[in-house]
Amino acid sequence: MKPLVLIVEDETALVTLLRYNLEREGFRVAEARDGEEALVLCAEERPDIILLDWMLPHLSGIEVCRRLRRAPETRDIPIIILTARSEETDKVRGLDSGADDYVTKPFSPAELISRLRAVLRRARPALSSETLQFEDLAMDLASHRVRRGEREVRLGPTEFRLLRHFLEHPGRVFSREQLLDAVWGRDVYVEPRTVDVHIRRLRKALNVGEESDLIRTVRSAGYALDRATVNA
Ligand code: CA
Repeated sequence: MKPLVLIVEDETALVTLLRYNLEREGFRVAEARDGEEALVLCAEERPDIILLDWMLPHLSGIEVCRRLRRAPETRDIPIIILTARSEETDKVRGLDSGADDYVTKPFSPAELISRLRAVLRRARPALSSETLQFEDLAMDLASHRVRRGEREVRLGPTEFRLLRHFLEHPGRVFSREQLLDAVWGRDVYVEPRTVDVHIRRLRKALNVGEESDLIRTVRSAGYALDRATVNA
């Protein structure tokens, strides 16, 4: 799936310009006009990266950044803060907001997008790569092929999307509801236990013979792609 960029900015013209350029470069875009809206959207949409203007009505960008860093669900989302002048950049850096990068206005869309890609590459290597890897598992996104070691793994379309989601966030535990949103989509009604059915199929395809189980079941929480643990 294309990475989702959340733009938090109250200047309509700048939002329009950024949206146009980001979409052309293959990103999906969500917008928030102030900090409160940004916090709600972050919790709901889980963007892959946030472009956050410093000067916003009500809550400042710095305060939004701090709140996002405090909440466990949003703590890991990379943030680029947009500031109006270079002196402000220094000031904002000094405030130690926890942002991943700072870009000073005015900037060219091309410059911003290359900084954004750099931050994304650092934070989520999976998003900028054609191959997703974990342990001896490799997914080629172009050819839709999955291998475990030397063995080709055959997956149905749902198991493929499920595995892709796990590979994009290795180690992270997802609840059944979160997996439904991410893999089936928000507008489709599917029962949470359907997830268990597809996890079983995915496990069966991934783990053959003596191979270790890479899917971890977390009791009452959900599932994660994780380093195999030996059950003593
Ligand atoms: Ca502004």
